[in-house]
Amino acid sequence: MPEGHTIHRAARKQREVLAGDAVQASSPQGRFADGAALLDGRVLKDIEAYGKHLFYRFEDDLLLHVHLGLFGRFFTHKGDVPPPRGAIRLRLIGRDAAVDLRGPTACEMIEGDDEARLLARLGPDPLRADAEPDRAWDRISRSKREIGALVMDQSVMAGVGNVYRAEALHVLGIHPSREGRSLSREEFDALWATVCRMLADGERAGRIVTVSAEDAGVPRSRIPRGERTYVYRQSSCRSCGGPVSSWDLAGRRSWACESCQG
Ligand SMILES: [Zn+2]
Repeated sequence: MPEGHTIHRAARKQREVLAGDAVQASSPQGRFADGAALLDGRVLKDIEAYGKHLFYRFEDDLLLHVHLGLFGRFFTHKGDVPPPRGAIRLRLIGRDAAVDLRGPTACEMIEGDDEARLLARLGPDPLRADAEPDRAWDRISRSKREIGALVMDQSVMAGVGNVYRAEALHVLGIHPSREGRSLSREEFDALWATVCRMLADGERAGRIVTVSAEDAGVPRSRIPRGERTYVYRQSSCRSCGGPVSSWDLAGRRSWACESCQG
């Protein structure tokens, strides 16, 4: 599943090429034909990301909500737009570029009230300037659930996925199985700062590299695939060389170094 940085990056990149344009909208696959007909020819004013959700604001207060889910993908075409192939739920064509959306969990027209309800269910998003980390601290500091489950719970913190969960907790030496309420305020503040930094890095680079240049011995852009994380999908810890354990936590595989995070 894409993590928040992918969604924010998609919003930024699509804003660059589509915002301000009267877009041609269509649903080549047909499953969003009514919505596309409503949007066709309208000006796309802005695209905003919140956690893993995207909101497309069109003129006349029309609002499109997209959630990629596990399988959703965007494809951007600059210049000539190829004839549609396969299951394209939504195609938006602007002056200079087009964006195809395939396989999303949600692609729907919503009202302002729906948006408010949706946002009310989400915790603060570390990539948003208006995020209020205290809301996440309130939940975490009172919870007996594992911190590894809490940071991926979108109602606690919006946008953190499986890779950043493993990596952020690792660099802070926090075991994912610790109860949320066992974290000190200092540990939480460090965790918030770390996910902010990691997600912002990922948003800029378009990929996840959590290992530092010092630890890798090469610039971060040159770290080979498979060596870009400390414990995520590693068998030995890239900080200390010790064994990495992995187990199911909140429905997803979790990784930790028992010695660094003991
Ligand atoms: Zn270690």
